[in-house]
Amino acid sequence: MKTYVIVKTHELALKGNNRPWFMRRLVNNLRVATKGTGVERVWQGHMMVGLTLSDEDAWPEVRDRVQDCFGVAKFFKSYTAPPDLDEVRAVLSVLLEGRSFNSFRITANRADKRFPVKSDQINRDMGAYVKDLTGARVDLTHPDLNIHLDVQSKEILIYFDEIKGYGGLPVGVSGLVTAMLSGGIDSPVAAWQLMKRGCTVQFVHFHSYPLVDMSSIEKVVDLTQYLTKFQYGSVLHLVPLGDIQKQIILSTPPAYRVIFYRRFMMRVTEEIARRRKSKAIVTGESCGQVASQTLENIASIDAVVNMPVLRPLIGFNKEEIIDVARALGTYTTSILPDQDCCSLFVPKHPETRSDLETVLKLESVLPVDDLVAMALENTEVREFSSPVEEPLPA
Ligand code: ATP
Ligand code: MG
Repeated sequence: MKTYVIVKTHELALKGNNRPWFMRRLVNNLRVATKGTGVERVWQGHMMVGLTLSDEDAWPEVRDRVQDCFGVAKFFKSYTAPPDLDEVRAVLSVLLEGRSFNSFRITANRADKRFPVKSDQINRDMGAYVKDLTGARVDLTHPDLNIHLDVQSKEILIYFDEIKGYGGLPVGVSGLVTAMLSGGIDSPVAAWQLMKRGCTVQFVHFHSYPLVDMSSIEKVVDLTQYLTKFQYGSVLHLVPLGDIQKQIILSTPPAYRVIFYRRFMMRVTEEIARRRKSKAIVTGESCGQVASQTLENIASIDAVVNMPVLRPLIGFNKEEIIDVARALGTYTTSILPDQDCCSLFVPKHPETRSDLETVLKLESVLPVDDLVAMALENTEVREFSSPVEEPLPA
Protein backbone atom coordinates (compact mmCIF):
# COMPACT_ATOMS: atom_id res chain seq x y z
CA MET A 1 0.00 0.00 0.00
CA LYS A 2 1.47 3.36 -1.07
CA THR A 3 1.59 6.30 1.31
CA TYR A 4 0.77 9.70 -0.11
CA VAL A 5 0.57 13.21 1.19
CA ILE A 6 -2.48 15.02 -0.13
CA VAL A 7 -2.28 18.81 -0.30
CA LYS A 8 -5.34 21.02 -0.59
CA THR A 9 -5.34 24.65 -1.54
CA HIS A 10 -7.90 27.26 -0.77
CA GLU A 11 -7.45 30.50 -2.61
CA LEU A 12 -6.13 28.82 -5.71
CA ALA A 13 -9.64 27.63 -6.39
CA LEU A 14 -10.66 31.25 -6.85
CA LYS A 15 -8.07 32.24 -9.41
CA GLY A 16 -9.94 31.53 -12.64
CA ASN A 17 -7.68 31.59 -15.68
CA ASN A 18 -4.53 31.81 -13.59
CA ARG A 19 -5.35 28.62 -11.74
CA PRO A 20 -3.34 26.19 -13.90
CA TRP A 21 -0.28 28.39 -13.61
CA PHE A 22 -0.70 28.76 -9.83
CA MET A 23 -1.11 25.02 -9.45
CA ARG A 24 2.00 24.35 -11.51
CA ARG A 25 3.92 26.72 -9.30
CA LEU A 26 2.68 25.00 -6.18
CA VAL A 27 3.65 21.59 -7.57
CA ASN A 28 7.07 22.92 -8.43
CA ASN A 29 7.55 24.54 -5.01
CA LEU A 30 6.54 21.32 -3.25
CA ARG A 31 9.01 19.43 -5.39
CA VAL A 32 11.86 21.73 -4.39
CA ALA A 33 10.75 21.90 -0.74
CA THR A 34 10.75 18.13 -0.31
CA LYS A 35 14.01 17.42 -2.11
CA GLY A 36 16.04 14.76 -0.37
CA THR A 37 13.23 13.60 1.92
CA GLY A 38 12.11 10.41 0.21
CA VAL A 39 9.35 11.85 -1.95
CA GLU A 40 9.18 9.76 -5.11
CA ARG A 41 6.79 11.86 -7.11
CA VAL A 42 4.78 15.07 -6.88
CA TRP A 43 1.67 15.04 -9.01
CA GLN A 44 -1.37 17.17 -9.66
CA GLY A 45 -4.84 15.76 -9.08
CA HIS A 46 -8.22 17.40 -9.26
CA MET A 47 -7.97 20.53 -7.06
CA MET A 48 -5.15 18.97 -5.08
CA VAL A 49 -1.51 18.00 -5.22
CA GLY A 50 -0.25 14.57 -4.23
CA LEU A 51 3.17 13.51 -3.02
CA THR A 52 4.10 9.84 -3.20
CA LEU A 53 6.35 8.78 -0.33
CA SER A 54 9.01 6.12 -0.78
CA ASP A 55 8.13 4.85 2.69
CA GLU A 56 6.39 5.87 5.90
CA ASP A 57 9.64 6.97 7.54
CA ALA A 58 9.78 9.94 5.20
CA TRP A 59 6.60 11.40 6.66
CA PRO A 60 7.87 13.52 9.62
CA GLU A 61 10.36 15.44 7.48
CA VAL A 62 7.92 15.77 4.57
CA ARG A 63 5.28 17.05 6.98
CA ASP A 64 7.60 19.83 8.21
CA ARG A 65 8.55 20.85 4.69
CA VAL A 66 4.97 20.90 3.38
CA GLN A 67 3.88 22.86 6.44
CA ASP A 68 6.19 25.71 5.42
CA CYS A 69 5.01 25.83 1.81
CA PHE A 70 2.73 28.77 1.07
CA GLY A 71 -0.42 28.03 -0.89
CA VAL A 72 -1.02 24.88 1.15
CA ALA A 73 -4.29 25.35 3.06
CA LYS A 74 -4.28 21.89 4.60
CA PHE A 75 -2.72 18.49 4.03
CA PHE A 76 -3.12 14.86 5.01
CA LYS A 77 -1.15 11.68 5.11
CA SER A 78 -3.10 9.38 2.87
CA TYR A 79 -3.44 5.67 2.09
CA THR A 80 -4.83 4.05 -1.02
CA ALA A 81 -7.11 1.27 -2.15
CA PRO A 82 -7.94 0.02 -5.64
CA PRO A 83 -11.15 1.64 -6.99
CA ASP A 84 -13.53 -0.83 -5.43
CA LEU A 85 -15.51 -0.35 -2.22
CA ASP A 86 -14.75 -3.84 -0.93
CA GLU A 87 -11.07 -2.99 -1.15
CA VAL A 88 -11.77 0.25 0.74
CA ARG A 89 -13.50 -1.75 3.47
CA ALA A 90 -10.47 -4.01 3.79
CA VAL A 91 -8.05 -1.08 4.04
CA LEU A 92 -10.28 0.75 6.52
CA SER A 93 -10.44 -2.26 8.80
CA VAL A 94 -6.62 -2.20 9.02
CA LEU A 95 -6.29 1.56 9.35
CA LEU A 96 -8.99 1.95 11.98
CA GLU A 97 -7.64 -0.77 14.21
CA GLY A 98 -6.32 0.80 17.39
CA ARG A 99 -7.84 4.23 16.68
CA SER A 100 -10.30 5.31 19.30
CA PHE A 101 -13.13 7.67 18.40
CA ASN A 102 -16.74 8.00 19.51
CA SER A 103 -18.07 9.69 16.41
CA PHE A 104 -17.08 9.93 12.76
CA ARG A 105 -18.22 10.95 9.35
CA ILE A 106 -17.36 9.79 5.85
CA THR A 107 -16.51 12.55 3.38
CA ALA A 108 -16.56 10.96 -0.06
CA ASN A 109 -15.67 12.84 -3.19
CA ARG A 110 -15.68 11.55 -6.76
CA ALA A 111 -12.92 13.38 -8.63
CA ASP A 112 -13.54 10.74 -11.32
CA LYS A 113 -17.27 10.78 -12.05
CA ARG A 114 -17.02 7.52 -13.98
CA PHE A 115 -16.92 5.66 -10.69
CA PRO A 116 -20.32 3.90 -10.61
CA VAL A 117 -21.29 4.71 -7.00
CA LYS A 118 -22.23 8.32 -6.25
CA SER A 119 -20.65 10.18 -3.31
CA ASP A 120 -23.84 10.12 -1.23
CA GLN A 121 -24.12 6.41 -1.61
CA ILE A 122 -20.44 5.89 -0.75
CA ASN A 123 -21.02 7.94 2.42
CA ARG A 124 -23.96 5.77 3.39
CA ASP A 125 -22.35 2.41 2.56
CA MET A 126 -19.03 3.14 4.21
CA GLY A 127 -20.75 4.87 7.15
CA ALA A 128 -22.73 1.72 7.87
CA TYR A 129 -19.56 -0.36 7.56
CA VAL A 130 -17.49 1.77 9.97
CA LYS A 131 -20.40 1.94 12.42
CA ASP A 132 -20.63 -1.84 12.48
CA LEU A 133 -16.88 -2.25 12.68
CA THR A 134 -16.20 0.20 15.53
CA GLY A 135 -19.49 0.94 17.29
CA ALA A 136 -18.90 4.69 16.83
CA ARG A 137 -21.82 6.90 15.84
CA VAL A 138 -22.12 9.17 12.82
CA ASP A 139 -21.79 12.90 13.50
CA LEU A 140 -21.75 15.05 10.39
CA THR A 141 -20.94 18.37 12.06
CA HIS A 142 -18.42 17.66 14.87
CA PRO A 143 -17.02 14.19 14.29
CA ASP A 144 -14.02 12.95 16.29
CA LEU A 145 -12.73 11.44 13.07
CA ASN A 146 -13.38 12.59 9.52
CA ILE A 147 -12.75 9.78 7.07
CA HIS A 148 -12.06 11.17 3.61
CA LEU A 149 -12.52 8.93 0.57
CA ASP A 150 -11.30 10.60 -2.61
CA VAL A 151 -12.11 8.63 -5.73
CA GLN A 152 -9.39 9.20 -8.33
CA SER A 153 -9.36 7.37 -11.67
CA LYS A 154 -6.96 4.63 -10.69
CA GLU A 155 -7.37 4.44 -6.94
CA ILE A 156 -9.27 5.67 -3.94
CA LEU A 157 -7.40 7.86 -1.46
CA ILE A 158 -8.19 7.33 2.22
CA TYR A 159 -7.14 9.93 4.80
CA PHE A 160 -8.08 11.24 8.22
CA ASP A 161 -6.07 13.79 10.12
CA GLU A 162 -5.95 17.27 8.75
CA ILE A 163 -2.88 19.44 9.27
CA LYS A 164 -3.32 23.15 8.67
CA GLY A 165 -0.89 25.00 6.42
CA TYR A 166 -0.37 28.76 6.21
CA GLY A 167 -2.57 29.12 3.14
CA GLY A 168 -1.71 32.11 1.01
CA LEU A 169 -0.25 31.85 -2.49
CA PRO A 170 2.68 29.83 -3.84
CA VAL A 171 5.89 31.80 -3.63
CA GLY A 172 6.77 33.14 -7.06
CA VAL A 173 3.33 33.96 -8.44
CA SER A 174 3.22 37.56 -7.21
CA GLY A 175 6.60 38.83 -8.41
CA LEU A 176 9.73 40.08 -6.67
CA VAL A 177 9.72 42.55 -3.77
CA THR A 178 12.72 44.05 -2.01
CA ALA A 179 12.66 43.87 1.78
CA MET A 180 14.77 46.04 4.05
CA LEU A 181 16.03 43.60 6.65
CA SER A 182 17.44 45.07 9.85
CA GLY A 183 18.12 42.09 12.08
CA GLY A 184 15.39 43.26 14.45
CA ILE A 185 12.09 41.53 15.17
CA ASP A 186 9.83 43.32 12.73
CA SER A 187 11.43 43.22 9.30
CA PRO A 188 11.74 39.41 9.02
CA VAL A 189 8.04 39.18 9.88
CA ALA A 190 7.18 41.78 7.25
CA ALA A 191 9.19 39.91 4.60
CA TRP A 192 7.52 36.65 5.55
CA GLN A 193 4.05 38.20 5.21
CA LEU A 194 4.83 39.10 1.60
CA MET A 195 6.16 35.61 0.87
CA LYS A 196 2.83 34.35 2.17
CA ARG A 197 1.15 36.42 -0.51
CA GLY A 198 3.16 34.77 -3.25
CA CYS A 199 6.05 37.23 -3.52
CA THR A 200 9.67 36.26 -3.84
CA VAL A 201 11.65 38.50 -1.52
CA GLN A 202 15.18 39.79 -1.99
CA PHE A 203 16.81 41.32 1.08
CA VAL A 204 18.78 44.50 1.63
CA HIS A 205 20.69 45.13 4.83
CA PHE A 206 22.55 48.32 5.75
CA HIS A 207 25.47 48.02 8.14
CA SER A 208 28.08 50.35 9.58
CA TYR A 209 30.96 47.89 9.58
CA PRO A 210 33.82 48.64 10.30
CA LEU A 211 32.57 51.51 12.51
CA VAL A 212 30.80 48.80 14.51
CA ASP A 213 31.28 45.03 14.67
CA MET A 214 29.77 42.49 12.24
CA SER A 215 26.98 41.35 14.57
CA SER A 216 24.10 42.82 12.54
CA ILE A 217 25.51 41.23 9.38
CA GLU A 218 25.81 37.85 11.07
CA LYS A 219 22.20 38.05 12.30
CA VAL A 220 20.88 39.07 8.92
CA VAL A 221 22.77 36.23 7.23
CA ASP A 222 21.19 33.78 9.70
CA LEU A 223 17.74 35.30 9.22
CA THR A 224 18.04 35.19 5.46
CA GLN A 225 19.13 31.55 5.50
CA TYR A 226 16.21 30.75 7.79
CA LEU A 227 13.63 32.64 5.72
CA THR A 228 14.91 30.92 2.58
CA LYS A 229 13.14 27.75 3.64
CA PHE A 230 9.90 29.50 2.71
CA GLN A 231 11.07 30.55 -0.77
CA TYR A 232 13.95 28.12 -1.61
CA GLY A 233 16.35 30.73 -2.94
CA SER A 234 17.27 34.21 -1.67
CA VAL A 235 19.59 37.04 -2.49
CA LEU A 236 20.92 39.31 0.27
CA HIS A 237 22.51 42.68 -0.50
CA LEU A 238 24.84 43.95 2.23
CA VAL A 239 25.23 47.70 1.89
CA PRO A 240 27.83 49.74 3.81
CA LEU A 241 26.20 52.84 5.28
CA GLY A 242 29.13 54.10 7.40
CA ASP A 243 30.52 56.61 4.91
CA ILE A 244 27.08 58.06 4.28
CA GLN A 245 26.50 58.33 8.02
CA LYS A 246 29.80 60.17 8.50
CA GLN A 247 28.79 62.75 5.92
CA ILE A 248 25.37 63.16 7.49
CA ILE A 249 26.89 63.67 10.93
CA LEU A 250 29.33 66.27 9.67
CA SER A 251 26.79 68.33 7.74
CA THR A 252 23.30 68.07 9.24
CA PRO A 253 21.64 68.74 12.64
CA PRO A 254 21.57 65.71 15.00
CA ALA A 255 17.77 65.64 15.33
CA TYR A 256 17.45 64.82 11.61
CA ARG A 257 20.08 62.10 11.39
CA VAL A 258 17.76 59.13 11.45
CA ILE A 259 15.53 60.66 8.80
CA PHE A 260 18.55 61.15 6.52
CA TYR A 261 19.86 57.65 7.22
CA ARG A 262 16.47 56.37 6.21
CA ARG A 263 16.19 58.48 3.09
CA PHE A 264 19.53 57.15 1.92
CA MET A 265 18.52 53.60 2.70
CA MET A 266 15.39 54.08 0.62
CA ARG A 267 17.28 55.49 -2.34
CA VAL A 268 19.78 52.64 -2.38
CA THR A 269 17.07 50.03 -1.86
CA GLU A 270 15.02 51.47 -4.71
CA GLU A 271 18.00 51.26 -7.07
CA ILE A 272 18.72 47.65 -6.02
CA ALA A 273 15.04 46.89 -6.61
CA ARG A 274 15.03 48.48 -10.07
CA ARG A 275 18.13 46.63 -11.19
CA ARG A 276 16.40 43.32 -10.51
CA LYS A 277 13.01 44.44 -11.83
CA SER A 278 11.45 44.31 -8.39
CA LYS A 279 8.25 46.33 -8.16
CA ALA A 280 8.03 47.29 -4.47
CA ILE A 281 9.95 47.84 -1.24
CA VAL A 282 8.91 46.19 2.05
CA THR A 283 9.69 47.45 5.54
CA GLY A 284 8.80 46.32 9.04
CA GLU A 285 7.52 49.69 10.18
CA SER A 286 4.51 49.99 12.42
CA CYS A 287 2.73 53.28 12.99
CA GLY A 288 4.16 55.28 15.91
CA GLN A 289 6.44 52.50 17.21
CA VAL A 290 9.61 54.60 17.26
CA ALA A 291 10.59 58.15 16.35
CA SER A 292 11.22 57.41 12.69
CA GLN A 293 7.81 55.84 12.34
CA THR A 294 5.53 58.82 12.94
CA LEU A 295 3.36 59.65 9.96
CA GLU A 296 5.30 62.87 9.39
CA ASN A 297 8.61 61.03 9.24
CA ILE A 298 7.24 58.21 7.13
CA ALA A 299 6.07 60.90 4.69
CA SER A 300 9.51 62.56 4.64
CA ILE A 301 11.21 59.21 4.09
CA ASP A 302 8.79 57.99 1.42
CA ALA A 303 9.18 61.20 -0.55
CA VAL A 304 12.51 59.96 -2.02
CA VAL A 305 11.12 56.81 -3.66
CA ASN A 306 9.03 56.31 -6.74
CA MET A 307 7.82 52.79 -6.13
CA PRO A 308 5.31 51.44 -3.62
CA VAL A 309 6.64 50.98 -0.09
CA LEU A 310 4.70 48.13 1.49
CA ARG A 311 4.42 48.10 5.28
CA PRO A 312 2.51 44.96 6.15
CA LEU A 313 2.92 45.58 9.91
CA ILE A 314 1.74 49.17 9.93
CA GLY A 315 -1.31 48.38 12.08
CA PHE A 316 0.27 45.72 14.30
CA ASN A 317 1.12 46.11 17.99
CA LYS A 318 4.60 44.98 19.02
CA GLU A 319 3.14 42.02 20.92
CA GLU A 320 1.30 40.86 17.82
CA ILE A 321 4.48 41.07 15.75
CA ILE A 322 6.37 39.08 18.41
CA ASP A 323 3.72 36.38 18.31
CA VAL A 324 4.19 35.94 14.57
CA ALA A 325 8.01 36.06 14.89
CA ARG A 326 7.85 33.28 17.49
CA ALA A 327 5.48 31.17 15.42
CA LEU A 328 7.52 31.44 12.25
CA GLY A 329 10.81 30.92 14.07
CA THR A 330 12.80 34.16 13.64
CA TYR A 331 12.32 35.56 17.15
CA THR A 332 15.30 33.93 18.88
CA THR A 333 17.73 35.22 16.25
CA SER A 334 16.10 38.65 16.13
CA ILE A 335 16.57 39.30 19.85
CA LEU A 336 20.30 38.50 19.87
CA PRO A 337 22.22 41.69 20.75
CA ASP A 338 23.76 43.49 17.79
CA GLN A 339 25.29 46.79 16.78
CA ASP A 340 22.76 48.19 14.39
CA CYS A 341 23.67 51.02 12.04
CA CYS A 342 20.64 53.04 13.08
CA SER A 343 21.77 53.18 16.68
CA LEU A 344 25.00 54.84 15.61
CA PHE A 345 25.29 58.55 16.48
CA VAL A 346 21.60 58.80 17.25
CA PRO A 347 20.60 61.91 19.23
CA LYS A 348 18.58 61.72 22.46
CA HIS A 349 15.76 63.76 20.95
CA PRO A 350 15.19 62.90 17.30
CA GLU A 351 12.79 64.98 15.26
CA THR A 352 9.41 63.26 15.25
CA ARG A 353 7.48 65.86 13.23
CA SER A 354 9.69 66.51 10.24
CA ASP A 355 8.38 68.47 7.29
CA LEU A 356 9.62 67.83 3.80
CA GLU A 357 10.60 71.42 3.08
CA THR A 358 13.07 71.52 6.01
CA VAL A 359 14.33 68.02 5.18
CA LEU A 360 15.07 69.01 1.59
CA LYS A 361 16.82 72.22 2.63
CA LEU A 362 19.05 70.46 5.17
CA GLU A 363 19.81 67.61 2.81
CA SER A 364 20.82 69.91 -0.06
CA VAL A 365 24.36 70.22 1.35
CA LEU A 366 24.99 66.48 0.81
CA PRO A 367 26.38 64.98 -2.43
CA VAL A 368 23.40 62.61 -2.62
CA ASP A 369 24.01 60.96 -5.98
CA ASP A 370 27.69 60.30 -5.27
CA LEU A 371 26.95 58.79 -1.88
CA VAL A 372 24.27 56.51 -3.30
CA ALA A 373 26.54 55.43 -6.16
CA MET A 374 29.38 54.68 -3.75
CA ALA A 375 27.14 52.58 -1.48
CA LEU A 376 25.88 50.60 -4.46
CA GLU A 377 29.37 50.03 -5.72
CA ASN A 378 30.49 48.64 -2.37
CA THR A 379 27.47 46.41 -1.89
CA GLU A 380 28.17 42.74 -1.35
CA VAL A 381 25.70 40.23 -2.77
CA ARG A 382 25.21 36.78 -1.22
CA GLU A 383 23.02 33.95 -2.43
CA PHE A 384 21.21 31.37 -0.35
CA SER A 385 19.34 28.19 -1.12
CA SER A 386 17.12 25.83 0.80
CA PRO A 387 16.95 22.93 1.41
CA VAL A 388 20.70 23.26 1.92
CA GLU A 389 22.37 20.31 0.24
CA GLU A 390 25.92 21.23 1.00
CA PRO A 391 27.35 23.55 3.63
CA LEU A 392 27.43 27.10 2.29
CA PRO A 393 30.88 28.54 1.65
CA ALA A 394 31.85 30.86 4.50
P1 ATP B 1 12.98 45.99 13.11
O1 ATP B 1 12.56 45.15 14.26
O2 ATP B 1 12.59 45.40 11.80
O3 ATP B 1 14.43 46.39 13.18
P2 ATP B 1 12.31 48.37 14.42
O4 ATP B 1 11.11 48.34 15.24
O5 ATP B 1 13.63 48.22 15.09
O6 ATP B 1 12.17 47.31 13.24
P3 ATP B 1 13.40 50.55 12.95
O7 ATP B 1 14.75 50.21 13.43
O8 ATP B 1 12.93 51.95 13.00
O9 ATP B 1 12.26 49.73 13.65
O10 ATP B 1 13.31 50.05 11.45
C1 ATP B 1 12.12 50.17 10.71
C2 ATP B 1 12.30 49.40 9.41
O11 ATP B 1 13.33 49.98 8.61
C3 ATP B 1 12.73 47.97 9.64
O12 ATP B 1 11.63 47.13 9.88
C4 ATP B 1 13.43 47.66 8.34
O13 ATP B 1 12.50 47.30 7.34
C5 ATP B 1 14.09 48.98 8.00
N1 ATP B 1 15.46 49.02 8.54
C6 ATP B 1 15.88 49.54 9.70
N2 ATP B 1 17.20 49.36 9.85
C7 ATP B 1 17.65 48.71 8.77
C8 ATP B 1 18.92 48.22 8.33
N3 ATP B 1 20.01 48.36 9.05
N4 ATP B 1 18.97 47.59 7.14
C9 ATP B 1 17.88 47.40 6.40
N5 ATP B 1 16.66 47.84 6.76
C10 ATP B 1 16.54 48.48 7.92
MG1 MG C 1 15.48 48.00 14.15
